[in-house]
Amino acid sequence: MTTAIKNGIVYQNGRLIKADVLLEAGKIKAIGTNLTGEQTIDATGKLVSPGLVDVHVHYRDPGQTYKEDIRTGSEAAAHGGFTTVGAMPNVTPVPNTPALMKKMVQENQAKGIVHIFQYGPITNGETTDIIPDYAALKKAGAFALSNDGHGVQTAQTMYLAMQKAKKNDLIIATHAQDDSLFNHGIVNEGSKAQELNLPPVTELAETTQIARDLLLAQKTGVHYHICHVSTKTSVELVRMAKARGINVTCEVAPHHLLLTDEDIPKDNGYYKMNPPLRSKEDQAALLVGLLDDTIDLIATDHAPHAKNEKEGGMKEAAFGITGSETAFSNLYTKFVKEEKVFTLEQLLSWLTDQPAKVFNLQKAGVLEPGRPADIAVFDLDHETELKEKDYKSKGVNTPFTGSKVYGATVMTMVDGQVVYRREEE
Ligand SMILES: [Zn+2]
Repeated sequence: MTTAIKNGIVYQNGRLIKADVLLEAGKIKAIGTNLTGEQTIDATGKLVSPGLVDVHVHYRDPGQTYKEDIRTGSEAAAHGGFTTVGAMPNVTPVPNTPALMKKMVQENQAKGIVHIFQYGPITNGETTDIIPDYAALKKAGAFALSNDGHGVQTAQTMYLAMQKAKKNDLIIATHAQDDSLFNHGIVNEGSKAQELNLPPVTELAETTQIARDLLLAQKTGVHYHICHVSTKTSVELVRMAKARGINVTCEVAPHHLLLTDEDIPKDNGYYKMNPPLRSKEDQAALLVGLLDDTIDLIATDHAPHAKNEKEGGMKEAAFGITGSETAFSNLYTKFVKEEKVFTLEQLLSWLTDQPAKVFNLQKAGVLEPGRPADIAVFDLDHETELKEKDYKSKGVNTPFTGSKVYGATVMTMVDGQVVYRREEE
C-alpha cells in the first residue's frame, strides 16, 4: 500500500519546498513532484514536517499515573506533532537497574504511540551519590542519562558520573541546580517575587552549577547537555565553553522563550515551573542564544500534574507545566508569524533535525527516502484557540489555555500509521 501526501510545503534539508511525499510500508519512499499513491492525503497549503522530536518529557509512569501515563503522554506528543520523545527517569521506581530499565523500555514500546527513548538516572533514585552501572543500563536500553528534577549536588559525584558516562558513550543531560542556593525558592529573584511575597530563586542556583559542570566536562570530555537553560549567564557560559571546544550542548523550553516573570498575573500555580520564568533580559538572551547556535534545540519539559496540585497558590503548587500540545503552535505564532524573530525553517530545525543530531537519534527528525514515515502536518493559515477539552494529556496545567494560535496539528504519523488526526470542527 502506497500513500501520497500531496501538495504540501515540505521541510527537508533545512528548506521548505512544495512537494509530495510518497510512503510505503511505514517508510518514506520518495519526495518530489507529481507523486501518486494508492491512497492520497491532500495537504495543499499545509506544512509537512518530519515528526517533531522532544528530548524532554515526563510521563509519570509508573508511580504517578493519575498525572499522566505512557499512553496519554504519547497521545499528547502526537497531538503536538511530536513523533519521538525522550522520557525522563523520575518515575517510581527510578529505573536504576538493568531489570527496571528493560521493563521501562518494554512498557514505553507497548503503551506508547510515538517513539519513546528512555533516560537512565545519573545517580540511583536521582538524589543519591551512588552511580548505577551505566554499561548495563545502556545495554538495557537507556539512550542518555539525567537526574532531571534534581541537580547533582556534589562535584565529586558529577566528576565520576561524567568519567563513566564518557567511557560508555552516554550523554549526561543535566538539570543544573545547586540546592543550597535554590533554597526552596519559587519565583525568579526580582520585583515579581517581592510583589507576590514569595521566596526568590537566584539565577546562581543554575549558573554556578553549569560553570562547575563545564569544567568537569572539559576535563572528562563527556558530552554534557544542559536541560532548559533559562538565564542570560547560562547562555554566556555555554557560548564561552563552545568557543573553548568543550563538548557541550543545551536546550531551551518554550515557556522560557514565550514568557517572563513579569507575565505572572497573580499568585497562580500555572506559572510555577523550575527553572522559573526569568527576566526580560534573560528571555532576550535565550533568543539570541538560539539564533547564534549557542542553544542547540528546543525541548518542552512537558510536566503534567493533576488539577488540584496546581490550583492553589504558587507556594503549594507542584513545579512544571505541560508543553507537548502547545509548543509548536505557540512558538510559530509568536516568533515566526507575528514577531518574525526567527524563520519557520529555523524553528523546525530546533524541533526536528537538531535534537535528532545532538542525541544521535538516527531515524528521527529528517524526511528522507528510506527513513521511517514519521510525519507531522500543520495548518499555518487558520487561527485556533488552545482549549482544555482538546488536550490528550491528563495534565491541563498550562498557562497557555485560551491563547489564539496558528499552527494546529492536522495529522501525525508514526511509521506510516496515523496516530493523531484533527477532528473536523
Ligand atoms: Zn528539569
